Amino acid sequence: MNVYHFSAFNDTLDPIHHKSVGAVVTDSNDNEGEDSRVGLDNLGNTCYLNAVVQCLANTDSLRHYFTSYDFEDDLNRSKGLIAYPLARLIRQLWTPSSDGVKRSVRPTHVRSLCDRWSSLSWGQNDAHEFCTFLLDSLHNDLNRSRLKPSAITSSAEADDDNNNSTDVHALANSSWNEFKRFNDSIVVDLFYGQYMSAIVCSVCPKRSLKFDPFVYLSLPIPLTHKDINLRDCLDLYSAPEVLSQQNSWHCPQCRTSREATKYSRFWRLPRILIIQLNRFCFDIKSCPEKITSFVDFPLHNLDLSSYSLSGQLSSYDLYAVVNHYGDVNGGHYKAYAKDTNIFKGLGWRCFDDNHVDDMRPDSVITRNAYILFYKRKDYNSHL
Ligand SMILES: [Zn+2]
Repeated sequence: MNVYHFSAFNDTLDPIHHKSVGAVVTDSNDNEGEDSRVGLDNLGNTCYLNAVVQCLANTDSLRHYFTSYDFEDDLNRSKGLIAYPLARLIRQLWTPSSDGVKRSVRPTHVRSLCDRWSSLSWGQNDAHEFCTFLLDSLHNDLNRSRLKPSAITSSAEADDDNNNSTDVHALANSSWNEFKRFNDSIVVDLFYGQYMSAIVCSVCPKRSLKFDPFVYLSLPIPLTHKDINLRDCLDLYSAPEVLSQQNSWHCPQCRTSREATKYSRFWRLPRILIIQLNRFCFDIKSCPEKITSFVDFPLHNLDLSSYSLSGQLSSYDLYAVVNHYGDVNGGHYKAYAKDTNIFKGLGWRCFDDNHVDDMRPDSVITRNAYILFYKRKDYNSHL
């Protein structure tokens, strides 16, 4: 294996790693028969980056897209400033070294590019913030749409007087198509879904609908003494909200302010569902604190049909987790990820910076779970 000491810009321009050459030199197959037991060195408080990169590198479709060089077909004006270094890093994690020894990799270039291009502050080194930034940056690099978007979100609103399901479908589709006109990337293909919010008048039958794309769920954790599971968080997230006097709704049919009920449901479920358990509470009134409650979550068959409207098949299996240890002032991140190679036993791995260990599936569910990666069961991992 080469030792990678080049500048980030050489990385993006190096012709040896171009698809037509690289496909022959290093990727005669796409390494899908390999497994990754390669760790990432900690470059000083970079465990948040390492944990997120390992989860993305264990997202089959995304890894295949990078290791097969398919991503080069989608590069746009930004010339892959983040996509190239991330693709190279993922290939380093998944390409066997010539002597068969697994050596950890230094994520120097991904780290420096993220530092350079990010306008966010990494003061908290928050893995979720970083994951959002990385997916946004990849989306911008790999957006097949050449239209200049006004914003990454696109939503459509309509009044639904007759509760006519054909109209609802048409509205959902037109909203999604409008979003896709400007936003068409592997990130949207894999990680984006669409939800519907409805506001219902308490006096007349008026219902107003709105559709929005989403890229992850940030679920609140109920503050209770009973055992909590993911369904409790989803129930709290999707609980109807009463819009009463202070923030009442102007009903266009009653032509006056009315108490109303607002609720939201999934309309289009993503292939990969990223769930953040919202453990960090930054309430102005109190000191920031971490909610350390144990939240139980399923390894298999997470069923979202009761939170979904479109009747879409919606069963998910867990394949990766970012765990956080410590409190709001600091801590450590580790990733757990599932080996999807059926010939190697469907085990789980713990990625703790440069250490990689096998682990039992029943050790995956802990109170440290922070970001969950679920894969929808009804789709083929190779696009
Ligand atoms: Zn009304």
